[in-house]
Amino acid sequence: MAVTEPAPVVPPSAHEGILRRQSLRESAARTYARSLPIVPVRARGLTIEGADGRRYLDCLSGAGTLALGHNHPVVLEAIRKVIDSGAPLHVLDLATPVKDAFTTELFATLPPGLADNARIQFCGPAGTDAVEAAFKLVRTATGRSGLLAFTGAYHGMTAGALEASGGAQDIRVTRLPFPQDYRCPFGIGGERGAAIAAHWTEHLLDDQKGGVPAPAGMILEPVQGEGGVNPAPDSWMRRMRRITEDRSIPLIADEVQTGVGRTGAFWGVEHSGIVPDVMVLSKAIGGSLPLAVIVYRSELDLWQPGAHAGTFRGNQLAMAAGAATLAHVRENGLAQRAATLGERMLTRLRSLGAHHPGIGNVRGRGLMIGMELVDPEAAPLPTTAEDGAAPPPPDPAFARAVQQECLRRGLIVELGGRHGAVVRLLPPLTLTDEQATAVIDRLADALTAAERSPNRRAAAGSIH
Ligand code: PMP
Repeated sequence: MAVTEPAPVVPPSAHEGILRRQSLRESAARTYARSLPIVPVRARGLTIEGADGRRYLDCLSGAGTLALGHNHPVVLEAIRKVIDSGAPLHVLDLATPVKDAFTTELFATLPPGLADNARIQFCGPAGTDAVEAAFKLVRTATGRSGLLAFTGAYHGMTAGALEASGGAQDIRVTRLPFPQDYRCPFGIGGERGAAIAAHWTEHLLDDQKGGVPAPAGMILEPVQGEGGVNPAPDSWMRRMRRITEDRSIPLIADEVQTGVGRTGAFWGVEHSGIVPDVMVLSKAIGGSLPLAVIVYRSELDLWQPGAHAGTFRGNQLAMAAGAATLAHVRENGLAQRAATLGERMLTRLRSLGAHHPGIGNVRGRGLMIGMELVDPEAAPLPTTAEDGAAPPPPDPAFARAVQQECLRRGLIVELGGRHGAVVRLLPPLTLTDEQATAVIDRLADALTAAERSPNRRAAAGSIH
């Protein structure tokens, strides 16, 4: 059967106009739109087609949302089924068959130690709203207000709404060291660096004069995403579980980005085998549509009716798309697939280091992959490492140049990390071997071009 190309959604000439109007009308706070000046009009799987007719391999995946890529048939079918059924699309938090099916599917995937005794709260649809809900829940349950969080963490952008509503409680965050191998805060790295980070945490919590407000909870990401793709060592995760359990501090796992197979296990906490008290979930659980929940041990369910309200907690399309996504990932072993393919991609990316001295470090877990770019000619940062070895400083201008060269070659990548010097790959879990090879080939090409580019330093002053 002859395959005919569908007609363009907008004439190619419209592309420039749309971008121009966007930059004239939209906020200075816009983010991805600055570094990725494309106008998506069609998408399927890994591929996005722009209004200019160009095709891109999308390794940003809606900031890690699209576990099955764009417009996966099982997701589209689930959405169509709800629309065709005549079911209401907006129902606040009322019970519906669609929500019932979503909750059943979600509970089937949770770590058994939690699923056996869990409650779920549907939140406003952003990850940050679920984070707020988690804090409120543990503060109510413990009667304490302090929070333990980690260096390099990212949990969202809300702060002012509660304050303006008069419902804000003073939250005092104690920031603890997150273990990092490459830029270890103690200059050591590895298991020893992680053990010292854990020891610091334990010591501080037990120091009566340590100045730590009584903690209502500890929040952590099993792999820090925005912070630069920093996987937490399994032993450190187990230690955090022990430390919190021994002191009756609820442990909150923020799995907004790591969930639904992304890291090579269905949930990021499964690598270490720990069972958190609260899990914060969003992004992939909505199958590309907005959805956020917290699931938590039922003993914590001590808040009052209406304690965490929100108009958009009943998005039926997102629940249907999400249930279909969760089931597809589970039934097709896509977490395992992410583990295998991710390992292969990490190995290939590491081997690029031999030809590209600007690659400082390659790290990740499953299909959550980061490549930290450095300036190998600059003096290393001061270190306390016993062998005096320290990584060269990060090179965000180089990272931006690589991102732009990737785009020129039809590859969309994200930047992250403390200095914006980590090139991040978050491809869909449905990535084929051939696509993985194409992604890495384009990235390798982009690295070579960026190394030669006169813009490598000129981009330094631009805002990401
Ligand atoms: N937690 C983590 C771990 C995230 O990665 C993000 C978003 N990148 C959030 C919370 C916030 O989610 P949202 O942008 O949907 O508010």
